[in-house]
Amino acid sequence: GLRIESLDFAYGESLILRGIDLAVQAGEFLALLGPSGSGKSTLLRLLAGLERPTSGRLTAAGDPIDGPGTERAVVFQHYALFPWMTVADNVAEAVHKAHPGLARSERRARARAHLERVGLGEAAGRYPFELSGGMQQRAAIARALALESPFLLMDEPFGALDPVNRAKLQDLLLAVWQGSSPRPTLVFVTHGIDEALLLADRVAVMGANPGRIIRDYPVPFARPRERVALYQDPGFQ
Ligand code: ATP
Ligand code: MG
Repeated sequence: GLRIESLDFAYGESLILRGIDLAVQAGEFLALLGPSGSGKSTLLRLLAGLERPTSGRLTAAGDPIDGPGTERAVVFQHYALFPWMTVADNVAEAVHKAHPGLARSERRARARAHLERVGLGEAAGRYPFELSGGMQQRAAIARALALESPFLLMDEPFGALDPVNRAKLQDLLLAVWQGSSPRPTLVFVTHGIDEALLLADRVAVMGANPGRIIRDYPVPFARPRERVALYQDPGFQ
């Protein structure tokens, strides 16, 4: 899993995170809630290896986190696709990172399979700007899945979506995560309490000034297997 021990983080003089201790078990789905400015994104960037702690220790599967790596895939709120590549090429690039030795045709076939998994098979040949926000976010998820990372770090991945697409992508993420074996360890930052309770096994809440963990509890009920949702009505298609 992921382990954060006695973590402090400062930007210059200002202390952003203080005394963070957090362990996420392998295969666990943790939602991270907290007010704006409490340091959720900063903590995720530290886990991604995009920032270095001022003091303390971060490890993934026991190894120190000392830079970005494909074993920790990141999905941000604003889609991290290369605008100059088709959706298929964006995903194929991630396949290449996970399996550098693959022939081009095999790489493309796998990219295609990942896109089909997120319902984007038809859009494979399009460029990101030709897709809706929901479709771009599906592509970003396909890209992250293609990395086959044991760790997934998601920062408000559905925050910019309309409620219908948000619900669809929540179901998609759950289906993909539950269908993976082994399940990736997932840290999911959100402002949505409902979303956190729907998706996560466990919820940690951060407080601000300085950022710290103030609550940490298991989600005390089984998540619905299938939800009967308004968006399945043909009227929304
Ligand atoms: P939100 O819910 O609005 O996304 P957050 O919990 O993700 O908020 P962060 O973006 O991690 O919060 O910011 C935590 C604190 O760090 C804030 O006070 C912010 O102003 C500060 N901060 C973030 N990035 C930088 C930076 N590059 N330089 C200096 N301070 C920064
Ligand atoms: Mg943030």
